[in-house]
Amino acid sequence: MILKYIIHIDMDAFFASIEQRDNPKLIGKPIAVGGHPDKRGVVCAASYEARKYGVKSAMSSRRAKALCKHLVFVPTNKYKYQTASNHIRNIFKRYSSNIEPLSLDEAYLEINDNNPIKIANSIKNDIKKELNLSCSVGVSYNKFLAKLASDMDKPNGMTIINKEDSLNILKPLPIRKLWGVGPKTEKALNRMGIYKISDIQDYDEKVLVDRLGKKGKELMMFAKGIDNRKVEGQSLPQSISEENTFSYDIENLQYIHEKIDEYSVDIHNRIIKKGYKYKTITIKLKYDDFSIETRSYSLENATDDLDTLKNTSHFIINNKFTITKKIRLLGLGVSNFIYPNDPIQIKINLDSYF
Ligand SMILES: [Mg+2]
Repeated sequence: MILKYIIHIDMDAFFASIEQRDNPKLIGKPIAVGGHPDKRGVVCAASYEARKYGVKSAMSSRRAKALCKHLVFVPTNKYKYQTASNHIRNIFKRYSSNIEPLSLDEAYLEINDNNPIKIANSIKNDIKKELNLSCSVGVSYNKFLAKLASDMDKPNGMTIINKEDSLNILKPLPIRKLWGVGPKTEKALNRMGIYKISDIQDYDEKVLVDRLGKKGKELMMFAKGIDNRKVEGQSLPQSISEENTFSYDIENLQYIHEKIDEYSVDIHNRIIKKGYKYKTITIKLKYDDFSIETRSYSLENATDDLDTLKNTSHFIINNKFTITKKIRLLGLGVSNFIYPNDPIQIKINLDSYF
């Protein structure tokens, strides 16, 4: 039986590590990405050397400078971070078809393989080899524990949480390590005498639910190492098409060819917007007796060229169908995509970082 595992990957000090990688003078130095020592503004990321002084992201530049006198400020380079993020995501795709990115430098991967540790190691190695960056990895049987694990041995670590160990690993941890516990919930729990995860494990579930409602139930589940949330990767469209039923049945093939040109333009515009290329073109006809026929043609090379789409479609109509009935519906579609740009990146708005 093949088991399902979740791997959580978190890049180590992502923006700062990229800057250090690209400028050897910054290696080993406390650096802050973003912000400016003499101006107002906030630090957007800090290297591990800077973190030792207490410098953190979202801290004012002035405060950061006060904490660490020799802090080096480096301007942000969004393009570089996005490019690295895309590359990392392409590495993930080699190992999983269900990837849920949480930010530019963090993602869940669903792994259907009995050797998730080997896979996690391969991912780490690929990232190191191809991007010269390090990451920390958590391997477990659910999302909560995988994310918790990736944070346990930073930087460049790997932690595995097995089912039989999870309760004991959770016990001594402070409650804020539980998914969904922010400062407010933490205070509420503290008032109930709950400080560690073991306190929740031992608490009367009924009382917890009476006090906190649905949240109480959820916390009890997480405290016991249970998390049923699924990895919610974005599935890519498999085809793009246009089809319409005519207001009357069509006998005149010239009209069908005109419609094909029209649909082609529509599909072409959608393809260009997405940045896809396709290899297969399909035409569907429904006749006046409601019978349906489809015919496809696959090109040798993927294309996004409008004339190729039009010409191939005309070719299919003229050569691959034997039309003897009136046409009630015409459909045109393209499939067999090549996705040159990682579509997942579109979901993450880089500007929310700066
Ligand atoms: Mg990170």
